[in-house]
Amino acid sequence: MSNHRGTTVWITGDQCTLQNSALAGCDKKTTTVLMIESIKRAQQRSYHKRKLVLIYSVMRHFAAELRKAGWTVDYYEERENFEDPLKEHIETRKPTGFRMMEQSEFGVTERMVKNLGPIPCQVTSHTQFISSAEDFDSLHKTPDSRVTMETFYHKMRMKTGLLMDGKEPFGGSWNYDKENRQPPGKSVHFSQPLASPADKITADVIDMVNRHFASHIGSVSKSTWNLAVTREDALKEAADFFDNRLDLFGPYQDAMVTGQVSMNHSMLSAYINVGLLHPLELAREAESRYLNGTARLASVEGYVRQLIGWREYIWRVYWRLMPEYRKRNTLDANNSLPEFFWTGDTDMKCMSEALSHVREFAYAHHILRLMVLGNFSLLAALEPVQVNDWFWAMFIDGYDWVMVPNVIGMVLHADGGYVGTKPYAASANYINKMSDYCKKCKYNPKTVVGKDACPFNSLYWDFLARNYSKFEHNHRMVMMMRNLDGKGEEQISEIREQAKHYLNAMARGERI
Ligand SMILES: Cc1cc2nc3c(=O)[nH]c(=O)nc-3n(C[C@H](O)[C@H](O)[C@H](O)COP(=O)(O)OP(=O)(O)OC[C@H]3O[C@@H](n4cnc5c(N)ncnc54)[C@H](O)[C@@H]3O)c2cc1C
Ligand code: SF4
Repeated sequence: MSNHRGTTVWITGDQCTLQNSALAGCDKKTTTVLMIESIKRAQQRSYHKRKLVLIYSVMRHFAAELRKAGWTVDYYEERENFEDPLKEHIETRKPTGFRMMEQSEFGVTERMVKNLGPIPCQVTSHTQFISSAEDFDSLHKTPDSRVTMETFYHKMRMKTGLLMDGKEPFGGSWNYDKENRQPPGKSVHFSQPLASPADKITADVIDMVNRHFASHIGSVSKSTWNLAVTREDALKEAADFFDNRLDLFGPYQDAMVTGQVSMNHSMLSAYINVGLLHPLELAREAESRYLNGTARLASVEGYVRQLIGWREYIWRVYWRLMPEYRKRNTLDANNSLPEFFWTGDTDMKCMSEALSHVREFAYAHHILRLMVLGNFSLLAALEPVQVNDWFWAMFIDGYDWVMVPNVIGMVLHADGGYVGTKPYAASANYINKMSDYCKKCKYNPKTVVGKDACPFNSLYWDFLARNYSKFEHNHRMVMMMRNLDGKGEEQISEIREQAKHYLNAMARGERI
């Protein structure tokens, strides 16, 4: 019997969903699904081992699911690169055409299509998002104007009908953040997320990752593995979030507590980004929990906003502004990433806590990313490309499309203010209010200069002073700049000396 088949559907590691649009309309009898593990691709940067295990294991489980559903799958395990198995596949199957869902990373679809030579390839649209380019682009009054997340979010609420009563938002308000964002109370209980243990396939992948990527960050073992690698298990983890954490998601969304990794966050981003879960099904489930009275509106609205507001906005910003967006550095930040980002070796309790979560789980919740790791990177003028590459390598849910706007835009304000009209810059006051870290820290959150003064404080004022001309007319920063103006010249120079002391120490590789 001939091996020759008509169409090949090429599926990559972040497209493991039966809703993959390249599969739609294909005849199982004449179609082959192609999936390739390329070791060289994963060695391009020091990706966290947990992330590699997740992607490879999801791919292998998805291939098994496809076979069970009657598809023929050519799966190339543990291959050095993409090119050789692709050539083998073409020689064996002699496909007359390829189909592929568009890639999430800028420029990759074109590179993959080029590798196919003369064989035609039909590129189908991405199914892991709810918005269209038209939804976003049509909101721009001129090509150079900006659109806020909030404006886009209203449009997405109307488009999906989520939390809407006709044209009006549930409860009369679009956004309930005023009721959210409480500091951590002493008696608050956080329910631990459900764990999904490793099966034989995941155990094999763990062995492979430990063999090929021994020098990469993190450690993985069969006994400690706890992430879902199938849609079935991811749905169970999602149900656990809706049953046990959604109701209190809002109030403690911004809180940080020593030793607490997940708090009330969903921990589902990695599953959504590889295709195991769809954002719309999660948003609809959250809405149903409000309608059946098991979750408060402020939490449900907050969660839905993250999914159909922020996630969609970030995706659209990426595709509208790439490729030059990645290179932006509006604040001229040029310092090197300090070594402790990799080792976790620092006396700053907030940073060491966030870094320990990342090193162990390849995860830290949003506020640790934004107001601790990100805030420090902003204040210390770390170079955007280095910060972006670090986040991309370290986080289990990290992909180019989501890292670039979050890091270059939201965190570092390096995009000239597209994602945010003002930088998320904060001194130790914020961290002290929203966490219990400062009580356990070597540094004093209340002092700006002196031996034990918290580095966030002097770096904060130094940040405002060195960017004075860029922020002095920003109406959202009036208070911050007025506070800076209120300090005498002598005081400012003393503060900036203190900041310089920390920056120089970091540059010399000394512990701070
Ligand atoms: C510096 C920085 C880097 C980030 N890197 C990533 C990343 O690599 N991958 C990623 O998916 N998210 C990223 N985010 C966004 C957000 O922090 C994570 O989506 C979230 O922490 C994931 O954890 P969770 O599933 O428990 O989310 P929850 O707090 O439960 O939020 C619900 C969902 O909303 C979505 N979401 C919320 N905010 C964003 C956002 N800003 N961008 C995109 N999706 C969002 C996610 O899908 C998330 O699962 C980053 C944010 C910052 C500030
Ligand atoms: S005192 Fe400063 S460095 Fe220490 S935990 Fe608080 S904010 Fe972080």
